Amino acid sequence: MGAESVDLLVIGGGMAGLSAAARVAAEGGSVMLVEKAERTGGSARFAGFVWTAPTLEELRRVNPDGDPELAEALIDGFADGVEWIRSLGVECRPPVPVLGFGRGHQVDTNHYLDTCERLIRDRGQEVLTATTTRALLTENGLVKGAECVLPDGTARRIEATWTLLATGGFQGDPALRAEHIHPQAADIGLRANPRSEGDGLTLGRTAGAAFGKKDAGFYGHLMPAGVPLADTSRFVDLALYYSEHALLFDTTGERFVDETVGDHLTTMALLDRPGARGLLVADARVHREWISASYVAGIPGVDKFQLCHRAGARCAVAESLDDFADMPEEWGYPGAVIRDRVREFNATASGDGTPVPGRLLDNRPLDEPPFYVVEAAPAITFTFGGLLIDTEARVLAAADPDGHRRIPGLLAAGADAGGLYRRAYAGGLAPALVFGLAAAHTALGGAPSAAGS
Ligand SMILES: Cc1cc2nc3c(=O)[nH]c(=O)nc-3n(C[C@H](O)[C@H](O)[C@H](O)COP(=O)(O)OP(=O)(O)OC[C@H]3O[C@@H](n4cnc5c(N)ncnc54)[C@H](O)[C@@H]3O)c2cc1C
Repeated sequence: MGAESVDLLVIGGGMAGLSAAARVAAEGGSVMLVEKAERTGGSARFAGFVWTAPTLEELRRVNPDGDPELAEALIDGFADGVEWIRSLGVECRPPVPVLGFGRGHQVDTNHYLDTCERLIRDRGQEVLTATTTRALLTENGLVKGAECVLPDGTARRIEATWTLLATGGFQGDPALRAEHIHPQAADIGLRANPRSEGDGLTLGRTAGAAFGKKDAGFYGHLMPAGVPLADTSRFVDLALYYSEHALLFDTTGERFVDETVGDHLTTMALLDRPGARGLLVADARVHREWISASYVAGIPGVDKFQLCHRAGARCAVAESLDDFADMPEEWGYPGAVIRDRVREFNATASGDGTPVPGRLLDNRPLDEPPFYVVEAAPAITFTFGGLLIDTEARVLAAADPDGHRRIPGLLAAGADAGGLYRRAYAGGLAPALVFGLAAAHTALGGAPSAAGS
C-alpha cells in the first residue's frame, strides 16, 4: 500500500469532480480523481443545459430559503463557468429560457466531460475508475486524503492537501432518502445515475461535517407510476413536464398543489400524499400545446402520452368528463369526484370563483375533449440536502452551529454540497460547475490552515 501526495484528491468523477480536477490539472497542479463507476460522468451524461437564474434577485425569489451567500456565488460564478467550458473547445450554444425564469446554454455534456478527463490524463494526472473509497485519512481533525480500493481489491493510500467530495448526492440509497427526504421516498423511482448513494455524505459526516438544510427536498419529475426506469432514455422521454398545464388529483380525488409553478415542485408535493401517486388530467388542447410539444428550445417534442401508453403506464383517453365515473375500480381513485372537480375548476377558469389551490401561471380551463389521463408518481434526480460548504467549497464543521469553522482539507461540490437550494431548483450542472471550479481555486491556493481556510 504505497503513499503518494497530490494537491487535490477528487472523489467522484461527474460534473463537479471532473470540472475541479481538470481545472487544477490545467493550472499545473497535481490531482487524482477516483470514480466508483466503470466510467466517469455520472448523471451529467444525461443532462443538456447549463443554466440557472439570470440574477440573484430572481434566484432569491424562486429559492428564498436557500443560503444567500451560496446563491450569490452561483450567480457571480456562472459566466466564468461557461467561459471555462468554452475555453476547452466545447460549444455552449446561445442562451435560451429554461423553466420560465431561468436562462442557460445547451452544451454537449459528454463532450465536456470527456474533454476534462482527457485533459487530466494528458497532464500526467491519474483517473482511477471502478475505485471505491474506504475512509478519509485524518490527523488531528485535518483531512489528508483517502484510502481507496482498486478494482482488484487492493488498497491504495492517496495523500492530498485537499480532498473534494463530489459523489453526486444520496438519491441512489433508499434508506437515506427515507431518512432525509420522506418515509415514502424509499420507494420512488430513480431518474439518475445509480451510483450516487450518499458516499460523500457518509465520508464527510464521519470527518465531522455539517449537514443541511433540514427538509431541503430534492429535484425530480413526475413520471408514469409503476413504469421501470432501467432504460435511461426514459429519464427524459417519460418525464411528465406538461403537468404544469394539467390538473393533478391524489387518491382521495383532491387537488393539493398549484401545478403551474413547476413540475419539479409538484413532484415534491406528491411525495407527501397517500401512496405518493396521483392522476394527471389533461385535455385535447394541453395535449396539442404541451404533451406533444418541445419542453425547452432545442429538444424536439414527442407525444409523451403515447410513450407512457407504450411503456405500460396506467393511462386512458376519455371522450368526455362523464366517462370519469367509469374509471376502473382497481385504479383506486374516485372517478366521479375527479369529474366534478374538473368541472368546478373549469367554472372558476370562466370567472366563477377562484380555484383552490390557485393557478398562478396557467388558469385556462380543461374543457376540450378528449381527456388524457396518466397515473403519475415522483421520481428523484438529485438531493438538495448535503454537506454544508462556504463559497470556496470548504466544508463546514458540524460542531460549529454558526458555520465559521471548516473541516481543514475537506471540500464538497455538486449534489454532495447542501445549503444552496431548499425545496426549489435553478439548475444542477451550474452549481456543480461553479463550486467545482471554486474547489479547484481553493486547492490551488495552498495548504489549509487549522481552521480550514
Ligand atoms: C436525465 C437527467 C437530466 C438532467 N438534465 C439537466 C439539465 O439539463 N441541466 C442541469 O442543470 N442539470 C440536469 N441534470 C442534473 C445534473 O446532471 C446534476 O445536477 C449534476 O450532474 C450533478 O453533478 P455532480 O458532480 O454532483 O454529480 P454527477 O454528475 O452525478 O457525478 C457524481 C459521480 O460520483 C460518482 N460516485 C458516487 N459515489 C462515489 C464514490 N464513493 N467514489 C467515487 N465516485 C463516486 C458517480 O458514479 C458519478 O460519476 C439532469 C440529470 C438527469 C439524471
